[in-house]
Order: sequence, then structure tokens, then C-alpha cells
Amino acid sequence: MSTAIVTGAVQGIGAAIARRLAKDGINVAINCRSEQRIENGGRQLAEELRSYGVEAECFAADVSDFEQCKAMVEAVKKRFSTIDYLVNNAGITRDGLLVRMTEEAYDEVINANQKSVYNMMKHVGAVMLRQKSGRIVNISSVIGLYGNAGQFNYAASKAAIIGMTKSAAKELGSRGITVNAIAPGFIETPMTEELSEEVRNAILENISLKRYGKVSEVAGLVSFLFSEDAGYITGQTIEISGGLSM
Ligand code: NAP
Repeated sequence: MSTAIVTGAVQGIGAAIARRLAKDGINVAINCRSEQRIENGGRQLAEELRSYGVEAECFAADVSDFEQCKAMVEAVKKRFSTIDYLVNNAGITRDGLLVRMTEEAYDEVINANQKSVYNMMKHVGAVMLRQKSGRIVNISSVIGLYGNAGQFNYAASKAAIIGMTKSAAKELGSRGITVNAIAPGFIETPMTEELSEEVRNAILENISLKRYGKVSEVAGLVSFLFSEDAGYITGQTIEISGGLSM
């Protein structure tokens, strides 16, 4: 049975992806930010995934930390023998207008959203190169494609992921490894619940389908990118936004 690592998998889009991959028959290494987060949601999710007939275990690591990612990847490899799929999903926002944005808010978002993708792809990429197989999906955002006032740091991190995806796809392709990015629009999660009613309504105006996306729809796209049918897709950024920008 194959194995996936999903970062930031304890809630929101990450948890939906973990559920979907488990239902697809893939063992799941659930990354949680800390041991405390394993107690606070991770362990329960792992139990649920095991009820779908796969193996599932939580691994604590702050993905913005290089050494913690290295140790986690080693631990997952030891536990499951292979690492066949990686989903770089963990992400944060620290919104604010550019001229008021603190250096701390900038660095925090870059480290959590962008450096984390380097940390994970470097270590998992080495395992996949040795295996001569693997699939990677990086969760970017429409904000990385089009920008957004008040999200300078977030846009920087999510745009970087698109370039990182293309570069890694070029480097790893000759060993049969695919690397793609997904750019979700506005998906109903704890992250979007933080938006004010006014902002939420303004966003809906611009969405062709006049609704927010579901976490299960993003998970379904990851499942497709990990399927045999998607074997010839690499280096791409696939937008899933209900027709937000066309
Ligand atoms: P969410 O509900 O806030 O979940 C994000 C998860 O990432 C949380 O479990 C969080 O852990 C974890 N995480 C954050 N920083 C971490 C770190 N340094 N180490 C380990 N785990 C960390 O957000 P979401 O809406 O599901 O978003 C998931 C991904 O989709 C993010 O990359 C986000 O940028 C992207 N995205 C979301 C939307 C949307 O509309 N929701 C749109 C476009 C892109 P804690 O809970 O412990 O903090």
C-alpha cells in the first residue's frame, strides 16, 4: 500500500485531503504543527482514517523548520517504508497593508507557506528520486496568481510556490515524479471564516458559480492528480475557484 504525507492536515483543506486519500486506499502520515495539536484533533483524525481500512499516524513538525521537516520525513520513511505522495498544504495568513506590514508578519508567512515547501520537497524529493516514482501537489492560491490588497506577504509566498513547482517538475520529471500546484479560490474553512460578512459578500459577487468552494472539491482534485489518469500532467497550476478570474 502506498503512503502520503499531508502537511497541516488536522483541519480545513488538509483534513479533507487526508480523508479523501485514505478513502482512495492510501496510508496517510498526518502532519500536525506540534504534539499538542496531535492531542487536539490529530489523533481523532488518524482514528477516523484507520476506519477506512488504511494506516494513519500523526507526525509533529513545524514545517517552517528545516530540521523538524528532515526528522519528520525520516520518521515517516521508517514507519511506512515508502513515501509516494506529498501534499504541501500547511499555510497561514497574517494580512495587512504593505506599508504597515511588520517584518515579523512578512517573515512568518514566507517561512510557513514558502520555505516549508522547500523543506518538505528537498527531503521527500530525495526519497522519491531513490524510489524513481512519486507525486507532489503544492497548495498555492488564486492570490499567488492575481495578488490581493492586504495580502502582500501571502501573495509572495503563494506565487513563489508556482515557480518552485515548475522548477521541481523539471528536475524530477526524468525519474517519473510529477509536481503540480493547485490554486484554490475561496473555500469554506476556518481560514475563510475569519473574513467579515462584508468581505465575504464582495468576494461572492466576483465568483461565477456564486458560491464558495468545498474542501471536498479541492481534495477531489488532489486525488485526481495522484491518479493514473493524471500521469502526464506536471509543472501545472490548476485553479479551482468557481470561475473567479477568467
Ligand atoms: P486552515 O484551516 O487554517 O488550516 C491550515 C493548517 O495548516 C492548520 O491545521 C495549521 O495548523 C497548519 N499549519 C500552519 N502553519 C503550520 C506550520 N508551520 N507547521 C505545521 N502546520 C501548520 O487553512 P485552510 O483554509 O485549510 O488552508 C489550507 C491551505 O490552502 C493553505 O496553504 C492555504 O493558504 C490554502 N488556501 C486556502 C484557501 C481557502 O479559501 N481556505 C484558498 C486558497 C489557498 P494549526 O491549526 O495548528 O495552526
